[in-house]
Amino acid sequence: MVANMSSTAEMIDLFLRLATIDSTSLDERRIADEVTRLFRSAGVRVVEDGSASILGGTAGNLFCYPPHFRPDRPSIVLTSHLDTVKSTAKLKPVVDATSIRSDGTTILGGDNRLGLSVLVRLLTEVAKHRGAYRNFFVLCTVGEETGLFGAGTADLASHQTDCAYVFDCSKRPGTYIRESVGLHTFTAQFIGKTAHSGVAPEEGVSAIQLASRAIASLQLGRIDAETTANVGKIVGGEAINAIPEKVTIEGEVRSYTSSRIAGELGRIERSLRSSVDPAGRLAFTTKSDFEPYILSPGAPMIIRLERAMRAVGLEPHPIRYTGGSDANKYNAKGIPAVNLGIGAQKPHSNEEFVLIEDLVKTSELAWELIRDDA
Ligand SMILES: [Zn+2]
Repeated sequence: MVANMSSTAEMIDLFLRLATIDSTSLDERRIADEVTRLFRSAGVRVVEDGSASILGGTAGNLFCYPPHFRPDRPSIVLTSHLDTVKSTAKLKPVVDATSIRSDGTTILGGDNRLGLSVLVRLLTEVAKHRGAYRNFFVLCTVGEETGLFGAGTADLASHQTDCAYVFDCSKRPGTYIRESVGLHTFTAQFIGKTAHSGVAPEEGVSAIQLASRAIASLQLGRIDAETTANVGKIVGGEAINAIPEKVTIEGEVRSYTSSRIAGELGRIERSLRSSVDPAGRLAFTTKSDFEPYILSPGAPMIIRLERAMRAVGLEPHPIRYTGGSDANKYNAKGIPAVNLGIGAQKPHSNEEFVLIEDLVKTSELAWELIRDDA
């Protein structure tokens, strides 16, 4: 479907309608209701999963099926997330000849309402007009911004899903994330011994001093071409006249392979322990936020993607990226998934904007991905 002036106006209208619905992470009821209403009135079957109760949110993931969908056949899934990083309740959109932005006092919500509006339009048009398309469905996830939660709970295993195209990268259309880091966090608690700082200082062991020495011994920042490490939070101490018993730090490691992340976390733990022993104790725990992925340039879903990009006049531009998306969760489930540039630029800031040509191109790319060319 080639964009003309009236369809472009409709795309902008739909985007603005969705962007102005206030629904932040795990509070997606309003946007989920509107998306469900739009889909159902077009004949799209919508199934909301049980993620609301699992995650403590107000809505679940929406699995949205065109009339021709065959659950017994291999399928592809196109996805976006329902939540925005901050409220869009007070959004006043500004549309000029080339772009859409907010008035500068709120985010625009292009992340991810731009991807969402493209997929809503795609699937409602498919349902209305029918035709020959690949076996596909649309998945709208919850809780992406605060931890990729909906993508984590979404059941794709029961769908014979071949691959997932995620419409959620802030780069411009044509760019896509073929390699993404994984991210693990760590918490380290330094335990000393409290005592009155004036009356009996020799009886105490300062956890602040333990932590300071230990952190100073760490290598942080860019560790190598693949890996970064950071200590981002520190909390501790109770009173100026008490030797502090506990200090807790939190940090993260990012890298392109799981083994490299594990290796770096091991190095951090050993370094902290050797600084603390034998004066104090260390409690060290780690947690996987998301795993890395690296897709082969020869993977069928990548070949297909690049062909679709060229068909709509985009030059494919694969990149490595140091942030996560729902694509990381799908890859960890064994479903090849790639995050696509949709041009929702400067995300999470009040300067966020979208070029109208990128909205149109993203829509054309979505159409090309579901075209049945078998
Ligand atoms: Zn996003």
